[in-house]
Amino acid sequence: MSTILGLSPDGALWAALGLLGVCLVLALAAVALWRRASAQSAAALKGQADAVPSAFPAGDVATGLISRQDFERALDKAVARCDAQRSAVCLLFIDVDDFSDVNDALGHEAGDEVLHEVAVRLHAATPAKRSATRVAGDEFLVLLTVGETVAQAQAQHILEALSRPLVARQGREFRLSASIGIAAYPAHGARAGLVSKAHAAMRTVKQTGGGAWASFNPQMAVDQRAQAALLADLRVAAQSRQFELFYQPKVDARTLQVTAAEALLRWHHPQKGVISPNVFIPLAERNGLIGDIGNWVIEEACRQAGTWRAAGFRMRVAINLSAYQMRQDDLVQRIESALASNRLRPERFTVEITESLALENTRTTQRTFEAMRRAGLHVAIDDFGAGQTSLAYLRQLPASELKMDMSLVNDLATSADARAIAQAVIKLAHALDLRVVAEGVETEQQRDLLVRMGCDELQGFLFAKPMSAAALGLWAMDDEFSHRPEFSSSLFQDTRPAP
Ligand code: C2E
Ligand code: MG
Ligand code: MG
Repeated sequence: MSTILGLSPDGALWAALGLLGVCLVLALAAVALWRRASAQSAAALKGQADAVPSAFPAGDVATGLISRQDFERALDKAVARCDAQRSAVCLLFIDVDDFSDVNDALGHEAGDEVLHEVAVRLHAATPAKRSATRVAGDEFLVLLTVGETVAQAQAQHILEALSRPLVARQGREFRLSASIGIAAYPAHGARAGLVSKAHAAMRTVKQTGGGAWASFNPQMAVDQRAQAALLADLRVAAQSRQFELFYQPKVDARTLQVTAAEALLRWHHPQKGVISPNVFIPLAERNGLIGDIGNWVIEEACRQAGTWRAAGFRMRVAINLSAYQMRQDDLVQRIESALASNRLRPERFTVEITESLALENTRTTQRTFEAMRRAGLHVAIDDFGAGQTSLAYLRQLPASELKMDMSLVNDLATSADARAIAQAVIKLAHALDLRVVAEGVETEQQRDLLVRMGCDELQGFLFAKPMSAAALGLWAMDDEFSHRPEFSSSLFQDTRPAP
C-alpha cells in the first residue's frame, strides 16, 4: 500500500501526527517569517486576485486563486491542445487532511489564513501559473500539462511543500498534510469525468490515512459506486434499527474473572449479512450518520448494563466513541442521563477512545475530556501503540485504562522488538497509574508472555469472541468454564472505582 500511495513510513508518521504537532519554542521567529512570507505571497498573487472567483465571491479572495470557471476553461483548452499534439494533461485533486481541526483549534479567521498559505504554496509548487482553483472549503484542483509520471512527482513535491512548518496567529506551529488524487487525460478517460476520477483517487488516499497521493484506477470508481450503495442502505439501517450490540469480555489476567464487556456494534444487513463496524463506521462518520448511531449505542449499552446489574453481573460495560461524538457538546450529558435512567454509576461505565482520537488535542475534545473527568466516567485509551503518542499529553487525560493495540500483541511470540515495546507500554502505563488491557490475545503463548510482563487484563479470541448479549450471559454461566478453580469464588470481579 505504501508504495502504491507513495507513502513512506516517515510520511505515515507525519500524516498521523497531522495537525497535532505543536511547537512553541520557535514561535516568535516563525511568526515573523510567516508574516513576511505571507506579505510576499500576497504581493505575488495580487495579479490573480483580479479574476473574480464564482464559487467564492468573497471568501476566495483569501486564496487568490483563479475561479472555477476560469479553471474549467483552462482545462478545456489544455485538453484540446492535448488532442491536437498528442500530449497529456493531469488533474490533481487536493484535500487538506483534518482541516476542520485547524478551524476548531484556532477559529475560522486563522483557518482562512491557513487556506491562503496552502494556496500560496500550491501556486509556488506548480510550474504553470493560473492553474489552480479552490473547489470548496479545503479542496483544491491543480491543472498540469504533463504526463502521469511527472504529475506524480509534482504531487509529491506539493505534499512536501505543504508539510513545511506553518505558524498560525497564536504562534502555534502546524505541519499540514494532504491527500492528492491524480487523473490523467486521455489515459483515464474522457474530459467530462476527470474531476470526479481525481476526486475518487483522493478519497482512496483519505481512507488509508491521508498524507499521500494516488493515481486513479478503475477499481476506485467501482468502490465509489459500492460505497454510494452501502451509504443508501446505511441511511435505511439507521432508521429501521438493523443494529445490534455484541459484547466481548475483558478478563483479569491472573484470576480470569470477567472485569468488563466491550460493546461492539454489528449491522445486520438484510442482503449482505453482518457487516463489520470497520466498514460502516467510517462511512457513517463521513456522511453525518454517526451521531444518531452513536446515541443509539449509548442508550442500548446502558440499558443492557442495567439488565446485567439487576441480574447480579458485576462487570463494567464499555462502549467505543467516534471522533464526531467527541466533538458533540452534549455527549457526556447524554451518557450521564442514560446511566441515570438505568441506575448505573459512571465509574462502572467505560468509554473507549482511540489513541489517535485522544491525541486530537483540540479545544472541543479537551472540553469533552474535562466533562468526562467531572462526570467520573471510566476512560480507556484504545488501540494504544498503533499511533504516535505524546506521553506528556497522555498524562493530562482523565484515563484509567490503556488498551494495548492488537498489532503489538500479534507479534509478541515472534519479535523481540514487540516484546520490548509491550513491556515498555506496560511499565509506562503503570507509572501513570493506568491499568493495561491487551487486546487481540489469540494464543496461550501470548497470554503467558503478557501475564509475565505484568499486564492487568486480557481480551481476545482465546477467551471469547464478541457475542450477543444473550450469548454472553450463557457463556458466563457455562458450567465447564465456571467450574474452573479460578472461577469458583466469584464469576465477575467487582469494578474498581476510577481514580
Ligand atoms: P476496537 O474497539 O479496538 O475493538 C477490537 C476489535 O478487534 C473488534 O473488532 C473485535 O472483534 C476484534 N478482536 C477482538 N479480539 C480479537 C482477537 O483475538 N483477534 C482478532 N483478530 N480480532 C479480535 P470489531 O468488532 O470488528 O470492531 C472494530 C472496530 O470498530 C473497533 O475496534 C472499534 O474501533 C470500532 N467500533 C466497534 N463498535 C463501535 C461503536 O459502537 N462505535 C464506534 N464509534 N466504533 C465502534
Ligand atoms: Mg474498543
Ligand atoms: Mg482496540
